[in-house]
Amino acid sequence: MNLGALVDRLVKKRWSDADVEKYVGRHRYAALTHAAAAATRELAASGGTTSALLVHGLETGMFDGAVVCKTVLEEGRVRARFSIATSASEVLAARGSKYVEVTFMREVVPLIKAFSGRLAVVGLPCDITSLKRRAERDPDVADKVALTVALVCGHNSRTGLIDNVTKRIEQRAGKALSDYRFRIGHWRGQIEATFSDGSVERYPTRRFNDYQNLYFFCERKCLACHDHYGYDADVSVGDVWLYRLKRDPIKHTGVIVRSEAGDRAVSAAREQGAIESQPLDVRDIMDGQSRIGPAHYNVSARARVGRRFGIPLKDTLHEPVRWFQYLNAWISIANMRLSESERGKRIIFRTPPRLIRAYLYVKKALETLR
Ligand SMILES: Cc1cc2nc3c(=O)[nH]c(=O)nc-3n(C[C@H](O)[C@H](O)[C@H](O)COP(=O)(O)OP(=O)(O)OC[C@H]3O[C@@H](n4cnc5c(N)ncnc54)[C@H](O)[C@@H]3O)c2cc1C
Ligand code: SF4
Repeated sequence: MNLGALVDRLVKKRWSDADVEKYVGRHRYAALTHAAAAATRELAASGGTTSALLVHGLETGMFDGAVVCKTVLEEGRVRARFSIATSASEVLAARGSKYVEVTFMREVVPLIKAFSGRLAVVGLPCDITSLKRRAERDPDVADKVALTVALVCGHNSRTGLIDNVTKRIEQRAGKALSDYRFRIGHWRGQIEATFSDGSVERYPTRRFNDYQNLYFFCERKCLACHDHYGYDADVSVGDVWLYRLKRDPIKHTGVIVRSEAGDRAVSAAREQGAIESQPLDVRDIMDGQSRIGPAHYNVSARARVGRRFGIPLKDTLHEPVRWFQYLNAWISIANMRLSESERGKRIIFRTPPRLIRAYLYVKKALETLR
């Protein structure tokens, strides 16, 4: 047994059937996957499975287009915008996770309505749920959506975070950005910034992620959300943070197949060689998310703390709230509130990164307690 597998065994959590049901929700099976083509995996968020499924579905006529989310620079600012990809190159151009707020329904519903053909749609859990609700009352949308893929989601960040991070990158480099990738490469990966003179620099993802993981600039809607794994999708995709995979040169995507349409897409891609896939216990995916998954789910803790901050949050779950969950929720909401004021932003970005990191370790420790 290698060291990583030993560490996985030591930190393995017990997840009852009831835990699986409430955190992950209805599903058929899980799989450890990656895109078969190295060229697809390159620049992907995890194993490139999402892009491989979309390309395979397009090329086999399972659907005619795929709603994807691309990074664009608008007036020099990094934003995420939706479009419909109808070719492999357009799908591949949208690889990677965009950790910045999106206006999914406002952009995607008109795209779907204007498209003649069937579509695969990739989105965050909340957006896939909104789309499902829309499809229930709009047959045109229902008829056109052939497959939904949800990205497992801790939470998303407002534009203020990426704007501050990229401003500092530009100031240090002394040149303007022309492209930006939030995370490429293995395990935690790296930020990739392309500048107007064509030069490319990479930076540790902690420049963005430490602030994000502390909930600075968190979107308000995420405080009221308990859907980490994408209950309403046909397929959910996420990272697999298992130590035994850390040294594997290939990064993987954890896939949770929930519906017949999802099974059709994943099975066909596997059988026809577009993705490599092996069975995985869904509890292994949950182990990799064992801090953030339950913390995200516990909306009851945030609802209780929210009252103290004058932020009304509906407690839809009535989960027990233990002291460490309360304290963790307090840190999340206090940090979000701090980043809502100009003075708060100055405090956040003048705090030495080492202190920010130490603070993050405290939050992570609280998330680890069960
Ligand atoms: C805000 C956010 C939070 C996340 N949090 C977690 C987490 O806590 N745990 C975890 O395991 N995984 C999380 N993920 C998912 C993870 O980062 C990968 O996206 C996932 O593993 C799929 O990887 P892949 O290589 O198969 O995708 P790729 O092949 O790289 O394809 C990614 C696809 O996602 C689409 N996309 C990217 N960003 C967005 C967006 N904001 N909205 C809609 N579509 C988008 C792109 O269009 C592309 O089609 C998060 C992703 C995002 C965007
Ligand atoms: S945490 Fe929930 S509300 Fe926030 S972006 Fe993710 S799925 Fe949407």
